[in-house]
Amino acid sequence: MQIHRLPSHLANKIAAGEVIERPASVVKELIENSIDAGSTSITIELKEAGLKQIKVTDNGAGMSEDDCELAFSRHATSKIKRDRDLFHIKTLGFRGEALASIAAVSKLTIKTSRGNEAGTCLTLEGGKIIGRTKSDARRGTEMTVNELFYNTPARLKYMKTLNTELGHITDLLNRMSFAYPNIRFQAYHNGRSLFKTSGSGDMLQVIAQVYGMSVAKKMLHVHKETLDFHISGYISKPELTRSSKSYISTLVNGRYVRSTPLTQAIMRAYHTLLPVHRAPIIVLAITMDPILVDVNVHPTKLEVRFSKEKELVKVIEDMIQSRFQQTTLIPKIDQTKVKKNEQAHQQTMSFNQFIGDHESKKERIYEKEPAFINNTKTDIKQKPKLVTNEHSNQLRNDERDKRIPDIYPIGQLHGTYILAQNEKGLYMIDQHAAQERIKYEYYKQKLGEPKKDIQTLLMPMTFEFSKREALFIEQFKDELKEVGLYFESFGHQTYIIRSHPTWFPKGSAEEIIREIIEQIIRDEAINIEYLRDEVAMLLACKRSIKANEYLNEHEMMHLIHELRRTKDPFTCPHGRPILIHFSSYDLEKMFKRIM
Ligand code: ADP
Ligand code: MG
Repeated sequence: MQIHRLPSHLANKIAAGEVIERPASVVKELIENSIDAGSTSITIELKEAGLKQIKVTDNGAGMSEDDCELAFSRHATSKIKRDRDLFHIKTLGFRGEALASIAAVSKLTIKTSRGNEAGTCLTLEGGKIIGRTKSDARRGTEMTVNELFYNTPARLKYMKTLNTELGHITDLLNRMSFAYPNIRFQAYHNGRSLFKTSGSGDMLQVIAQVYGMSVAKKMLHVHKETLDFHISGYISKPELTRSSKSYISTLVNGRYVRSTPLTQAIMRAYHTLLPVHRAPIIVLAITMDPILVDVNVHPTKLEVRFSKEKELVKVIEDMIQSRFQQTTLIPKIDQTKVKKNEQAHQQTMSFNQFIGDHESKKERIYEKEPAFINNTKTDIKQKPKLVTNEHSNQLRNDERDKRIPDIYPIGQLHGTYILAQNEKGLYMIDQHAAQERIKYEYYKQKLGEPKKDIQTLLMPMTFEFSKREALFIEQFKDELKEVGLYFESFGHQTYIIRSHPTWFPKGSAEEIIREIIEQIIRDEAINIEYLRDEVAMLLACKRSIKANEYLNEHEMMHLIHELRRTKDPFTCPHGRPILIHFSSYDLEKMFKRIM
């Protein structure tokens, strides 16, 4: 056996396997080059989902004849020169690999000109230049990639259906156009228009072009600037959801990236606002100093590494949450072409004024559990007992009040929905969902209070655990003690608990303790935040009034009033809507009083 150097065409062919996985990869590399060349208009023409032909035409800087030849050799790039450039990458490309790789696995023609001289036309086959002529002097570049993978049959075999490949391409075009709203993209497949953006620079307009007007209408603008990050984009109102997270586009310095921490931050911000297994539609453009992001982690640069990841994640989560805190999120009944009145938070008179002028509009907090928690009718009938509290956890009631307009109960439907009205129309409230939200937030706050009061049990509880569970209990014994749970070993995987934190509600202690152990095994750490949430949800759901329960006017008013005090009054903790609005306009339309 003898070692020899691979001929460059073979080395390129091997390297191509990494970067050029499918037609969409070619489209991506070519578009990125066009963007790096400063183009404002990019046209993509495809045949057979790009397997037969991909043609990308731009109006960018173009190349000189010499550069054009050089561009096809591996590690040839105009974008970085020195070591340190690698930490300040402002272009989409920098590895100098794409053209060499694409050329190695296709038959390719390039026409390019800088606009001030005759252009260059090169033809390549399997990476070898087989033809040189002049072309016209139109400024820009036209790349035609024919018969992709013609010389790598194994790769060709892996291609999915044309529709799947085309799906990958449109997905890519979507994200590219989000990242570059000021570039005009036009794409055609087999001669028919596939995709088009206007290049107006307005991201919302691109969203409308990509996902449709009805989606664009339900998007909220977000914007945040910190010393390190500049973030702006659009997030969907919680009422608008999708079944997969693939509608979340995070763009970092003009590059679409897939980042689990960023996606998780977004999902956390929507926590309890979305039904389970649903995800929002999001387009976020994040810019930061290139030194803070390493794009050289993955050959296709789809994954990146942030050096201030924790900070970034926090900024995003807070930005989205505070956006919701400023917005009225009452879904309207689904009537197409109904004119929207998004400015519901202009309604100023607060419900406090309605239930009694004698109560000043200071920040208030409940001294005791809200009346509904005990779920006894007598409690409900009393007027809510409120006390002012100096350090009231920044409830910002005044601000929040405005998100729920003043509404007046007029009755109850099926013992389940409260009907309420104001001059803007009819509102329906799911009383169970409303109460779950109120209690969820109540318990969550309770659970978060630093007091670690311990309640000693008259009858100690005995738990039998599996071997595995017992091992975890031993490992986390000290941490468990910290949260007020002392597991006294009784041999044979049996433990005795003689006390627990006072906030454990009666009758649910065993359930909560089991939940805690399960969580520890799952996360291999005690995640207090998560537990608080789980337990709060559990309790809220258990102890809420169910459907088919009659409420009198006072009780209805009281429920609305309590709802108004919550942080997220629009969905129950499982993401179901609490309020629905039929505007007067909707009603008149439905009864054809107006046409
Ligand atoms: P990279 O983008 O990483 O530099 P490529 O192989 O994609 O590597 O491209 C090599 C070089 O060819 C680029 O650095 C650029 O100078 C030039 N180039 C490629 N495409 C274009 C284009 N559409 N317009 C102008 N120059 C281009
Ligand atoms: Mg490139």
